Order: sequence, then structure tokens, then C-alpha cells
Amino acid sequence: MGRPTTRRGDLPPIDARRSRDSAGAVLRAVLDHGPIARSSVARVTRLSAASVTGVVSSLLDRGLMCEVPEAAGPPGIGRPHVPLDIQVEGAAVIGVHIAVPRITVSLLDLRGRIIAQVQEPHGRTDPASVIATVAARIATLRRRHPRRRVLGLGLATGGWVDSLTGTIVEHPALDWRDVRIGAALAEATGLPVRTDNNSRALLRAELLFGAVAGRARESAVHLFVGNVVDVAFATGGAIHQGPRSASGAVAHLPVEGCREACSCGRVGCLQAAVSERVLVRRAMTAGLIDRPEIPALVKAAADGSAGALELLRDRARLVGRAAALLLDLFDPEVLVVAEAGANQLPECLATLRAEVAAWSSAGAEMERVVHPSSFPGTVLAVAGGAVALDQVYASPLDLGVRLRAS
Ligand SMILES: [Zn+2]
Repeated sequence: MGRPTTRRGDLPPIDARRSRDSAGAVLRAVLDHGPIARSSVARVTRLSAASVTGVVSSLLDRGLMCEVPEAAGPPGIGRPHVPLDIQVEGAAVIGVHIAVPRITVSLLDLRGRIIAQVQEPHGRTDPASVIATVAARIATLRRRHPRRRVLGLGLATGGWVDSLTGTIVEHPALDWRDVRIGAALAEATGLPVRTDNNSRALLRAELLFGAVAGRARESAVHLFVGNVVDVAFATGGAIHQGPRSASGAVAHLPVEGCREACSCGRVGCLQAAVSERVLVRRAMTAGLIDRPEIPALVKAAADGSAGALELLRDRARLVGRAAALLLDLFDPEVLVVAEAGANQLPECLATLRAEVAAWSSAGAEMERVVHPSSFPGTVLAVAGGAVALDQVYASPLDLGVRLRAS
């Protein structure tokens, strides 16, 4: 017996899919090149002029795009060559980041720029209390920006996050397990919610708006170092999720000579060696800072504290070794490291690159391949929003349909 013949009715609806994809392609072309004429959008996307005209009209209707007066010459609304740009005035997304010591809630425009953000410590850290706090802060932010039309909510956090079901499977530092946070926040806010882990969220931001987005879309690895450590990788602009959404867990990579206890029960894991809590504790003990926060340590180093700089360079060396391993493992076009010191202090970035060069055997040109985050000092505010914006740019018309239906 052979296999039954696939019938036409069994195939996915190609036309529906193509129209959604082309809307995303048009919106991304305008994001990359705007202001840009319709004819140029057709050239960049390889769509017909008629398709572009149709899609643009839908995107203008939904307020995701706008027509702008040409820089040279008089404005002429309605003329076919009026350039298009991303509409950054009306639509926005909410970003939520849940870290170990604090919650960040932000409002981002469609170019991923921060309109407003609130960053405050947790009260209690049990899931129900955190979800209630997040919902209250979102409500406050929306009240302060009543003219912003919020398209969706993106949430990023550390640990193991299943973005398909919107579940934080495991967050050891917060001691959370199987928290269905996506559904809870959707109910509390009435917004469509997408969730992902830190690194995948920030890689989405790099692919959309990053300093080396063009090359990152070829292939990219993103290493996030905060209180948790995680990794994401993408090829052809698509982020690998893994069948269990578990890709990128490097927290427990053994670090030689490290005696810090890890949340996993072992000693000497990468996450324990480089976590911000450990770092600021050391800085407090050494009298280098007066509050246990990483921005304080970065500021002390920037202001000339040799001790603060050396602590951060020590961490950059440890991170550099892990980054070297990732570079050899994936051989990406771009390796982005989101780490507070390397992102904000040139000395730390130089230390990081030197350490990657010393430990990598891939022979890559460090200045070309190893990059700091494109969002220095604002990674937490950008991360969550990028998860929502990724959806907007993937299928902007689909989003509209879902929003109207809900
Ligand atoms: Zn561990």
C-alpha cells in the first residue's frame, strides 16, 4: 500500500499566507529604507507594483505606515511617488521585562524607540503578585499616554520560556515553575501577549532595529548576561526556538576556578560566576558602590574607579570565554553580547574582544564579528517590546484581523 495522494484541500491556503507575508515584507522594507517610494518598495521586496499598492493601502489604513512630504520639492499628498515611512506617532507596543530584582514596563513606537518606561523593584516575587503589579503599571502607563493605540504586549524574562504557550517553564532565580503568564497578562490587560526569553527577545530587536541588522539577518548569536545568562541564535532572520523552546541554555557551563554556588545546586556555573548579584555584592564589600545595583557599578567605573573597572573587566573576561565557545560552535556573521560593562565602557568591550580572540579558534575578525548590544543601558526596556514588534513586522495584517476580532 502506497501513501494516499495529497489532495489540494489538504494544502495550506497559499494566497492567504502570501498576502500576509507580503505585508510584512513591505513593512520591513519601509522600516529599513523609509522614507521610500512605492516603486522602490516593489524593487526591494520583488513584489509587483500592484501588490505593493494594495498592501500599502491596507497598512496606511491600519495606521502602521504614513506618507511623508518629500525632503526636496513641495509636498503632494495623493501623488503616486509620495514616500512612505513607519508611523511612529499613533501605534505603539508595551514591553514588559521581569528580572530578579525589578520589573520594567515600557512603551515603544514602531521603530523600537522608547516613548516611556517605568523601572521599579518588585514587591513580592510570587507569580500572582508580580502579574498584578505588572498589570497595574501597564494601566498607569496607558493612562499617561491616552493617544497611543497599543497593538500588543511583549514579555521577556530569563530562564526557560515556552513562547508557543506563553509559559515560563522554569525560572530558578525567581523560583517559578510552569507560570502561564501570557494568558494571565492577556486577561488582565485585554491585549494580545507574546512571551520569550531575554536573548531571543533581544535578538529579535537586533534583527529588526540593530546597528548591524543587515548582517545579523544572515546569521547571528546573541549572548545575554544579567542575573541570568542565556543565548539565542538565528539564521536567515529566523530564530531557532527548539521543539521544547529550550534552546540557548548556557547558564550551567562550568567555569574553571569559580567557587560561587549556583541555583542548580552545583558550584562554578557560568551564571553564578558572572551574575549581577554576585558582582554588585563584591563591589559593595569592597566599598566601591553604595547601592547594590549594576548601573551604579558601571557609573563608578566610568567616573574613574579603578576597582569598579577591574571588577567589570574580570566579568568581561569570563563572558569572553563563553562567547569564544559560541563563536566556534556557530561561526555566525555577528555575535552580539548584551552585558552592562561591555555595552557601556570601551575598556570592557576591548577586554571582551581580546578574550574571545584568545580562546576562539575560528580566526574571526573581532571588530567585525563581536558587537555590543545596539541598546546599551536600555536592553530591559527594549527586550519585551521587541517580542511584540516582531509579531507586528511578521504579519501586520494578521495582527489587525486578530485585534478586531478580540
Ligand atoms: Zn548551575
